[in-house]
Amino acid sequence: LEVIRAVEPRVADAIGAELADQRESLKLIASENYASPATLLAMGNWFSDKYAEGTVGRRFYAGCQNVDTVEALAAEHARELFGAAHAYVQPHSGIDANLVAFWAILADRVESPALKKAQVRQVNDLTEADWFALRRELGNQRMLGMSLDAGGHLTHGFRPNISGKMFDQRSYGTDPATGLVDYDKVAEAAREFKPLILVAGYSAYPRKVNFRIMREIADSVGATFMVDMAHFAGLVAGKVFTGDFDPVPHAHIVTTTTHKSLRGPRGGMVLCGPELAGQVDRGCPMVLGGPLPHVMAAKAVALAEARRPDFANYAQRIVDNAQALAEGLLRRGAKLVTGGTDNHLVLIDVSGYDLTGRQAEQALLDSGIVTNRNAVPQDPNGAWYTSGIRIGTPALTTRGLGTAEMDQTAELIHTVLSQTKPGESKAKYVLDPALADKVSKQASELLTGFP
Ligand code: PLP
Repeated sequence: LEVIRAVEPRVADAIGAELADQRESLKLIASENYASPATLLAMGNWFSDKYAEGTVGRRFYAGCQNVDTVEALAAEHARELFGAAHAYVQPHSGIDANLVAFWAILADRVESPALKKAQVRQVNDLTEADWFALRRELGNQRMLGMSLDAGGHLTHGFRPNISGKMFDQRSYGTDPATGLVDYDKVAEAAREFKPLILVAGYSAYPRKVNFRIMREIADSVGATFMVDMAHFAGLVAGKVFTGDFDPVPHAHIVTTTTHKSLRGPRGGMVLCGPELAGQVDRGCPMVLGGPLPHVMAAKAVALAEARRPDFANYAQRIVDNAQALAEGLLRRGAKLVTGGTDNHLVLIDVSGYDLTGRQAEQALLDSGIVTNRNAVPQDPNGAWYTSGIRIGTPALTTRGLGTAEMDQTAELIHTVLSQTKPGESKAKYVLDPALADKVSKQASELLTGFP
């Protein structure tokens, strides 16, 4: 920090303050974690200065031998860890990984003479008419994914994201009575809509998805089956999600982030079989600029960590903790979407406390509990104010907190939510500052045993 302080002290101060915040507050954001020191150090070094467009052994820049080493290692660890035939570790983020996958599927599946010509090496031979045909032939393909309010992700064909502009999208929701995916309804939607791509995966669905059934549905309509396991990759890596719940043997293509439950650096990754591997490896320059060698080095380290036996123990504890948190909340009267969890996250329907998600999120933050608001199925408050609070256990599990601490965490959350009153707008609320202060101190004390 002193080196940074000598150049821009405000950055050094912000880093120090971030460390203090992350140490002292209950970090319950389901997509966050604490990467290991080895992972952080692998990211903060001279690899950051290197350009390496291309793939291992086939670069557009000289001097990439060390980048080749770390990229090949990251891919090897990913293949071994997930049992995948091919791993592409260049995506800078989950969004990029999804774009790479979408492009690979389009290029593989859509009969387009113009596209055949447009493959990278012939790109200069294309006429204006070819380009026009290519856009016409590839545009408006169909995608079927989980709806946003049921827990799907923006990148699965929703309007604010480019995927919603590229694809004609339809979504499947969850059963209003149970909150669970209704596979018959998914099959019905697939039969009617005939998507090119069926997407499974979520950011805010607290249950497992049966990928064997989803693959059968995709096959029945000739769709390519893609799973975005960004949120639960750590549970797949740690062999908590196996059999029908492990996406890798069932999907044609799997994407993920590396920084959530998987506990690596911020980044993305694509896994697939040999059929799509060639198209996937064209991610750079199709979708990505130069890969980030420092992040690929950190991916190699984090994936090596995930291959160690203790990672399975961590993954199982994530789910044990989420279930303990859910039980603690239910026992105190909270309303949970689907009534519980079998993964790393819990979705509280805070309408049960007469609050919006926005009010609840801020009241919890005032009290040292960091969460995020999230829509619940058929949310009357929309995607901005919402009626839900999403909480996840990967970060606190990494710190070593267990089920007893989860019960204490449930008590703190319930105390704040039950004592917060709605204000005059969907964003305003009333919470006694002395109570917020007291809970903050209790949260911080809870963490002192887990530095
Ligand atoms: N896919 C899913 C399911 C996600 O939950 C997220 C992030 O929240 C992403 C993709 C996008 O990841 P990133 O923020 O790294 O682009």
